[in-house]
Amino acid sequence: MTHAGRFAPSPSGELHVGNLRTAILAWLFARSTGRRFLLRVEDLDRARAGAEAAQLRDLAAVGVTWDGGVVRQTDREPLYTAAIGELAAAGLTYECFCTRREIQEAPSAPHAPQGAYPGTCRGLSAAELEFKRSTRPAAIRLRSSVAEWTVEDMLHGSFTGVVDDFVLRRNDGVTAYNLAVVVDDAEQGIDQVVRGDDLLPSTPRQAYLASLLNMPVPEYAHVPLVVNADGARLAKRDGAVTLGDLAAVGHPAEAVQRTILQSLGLPGDSLEAALEGFSPARLPREPWVWPGA
Ligand code: GLU
Repeated sequence: MTHAGRFAPSPSGELHVGNLRTAILAWLFARSTGRRFLLRVEDLDRARAGAEAAQLRDLAAVGVTWDGGVVRQTDREPLYTAAIGELAAAGLTYECFCTRREIQEAPSAPHAPQGAYPGTCRGLSAAELEFKRSTRPAAIRLRSSVAEWTVEDMLHGSFTGVVDDFVLRRNDGVTAYNLAVVVDDAEQGIDQVVRGDDLLPSTPRQAYLASLLNMPVPEYAHVPLVVNADGARLAKRDGAVTLGDLAAVGHPAEAVQRTILQSLGLPGDSLEAALEGFSPARLPREPWVWPGA
């Protein structure tokens, strides 16, 4: 088993300084522990033409290097289909015909946590199933036997979150992020997942799914996001936040890299130099307020 970390961007647009800081952190966590570092493009959904090339270029420009070729999720459908097939064979999936609106309007199941799928399609009779199949295509949901699951996170400690009957494959045939990410991390030998802490709430679902698939659960570090002056998650509308925009206002990629390293309390003009002083225990735990350019 190889030991590896990764960065897994969705090619939906250009990376901004928040995404680049997360990528740098993932690289530092992996390299400081002697791991390989892999790059996976999560292009199952919302992919935009040209975005992947721009993201790879910008990652390289701030010093994020990766081992081997870039892996794309759209090339990996057979792996996802096999995993869903394995779960289905074990009776751990069911077809769901609910629209988003029906889910919102359904009375929640007794004891179900807020926001959990209410289980409408969990126990359909053969006749109901036959009728519903004639009305619209089905999504595939996990038949979960837990309501919550606990993961260990290097920065957050024990974290317990909701596990509901979440979607594995959408009704338009697109494999869901939660399934793809678990299958890919296991198949690629990724045993360290460092990503933005907006994804912490999804992590119990992923770790539970890994356990059902007999796949190892990676170690997790969910890192603080970068926020704007109002404390909201940084976004494209917050001015010059991509490398292209920043270069145009006099901040080349090297300057952006230095600013990001400084925000992490790390000296140095390169990621290799920053490795010397890198220690997860000393990382800032608060979101970084982007000072603007
Ligand atoms: N592709 C996801 C994103 O860009 C990240 C997934 C992950 O790191 O697990 O938000």
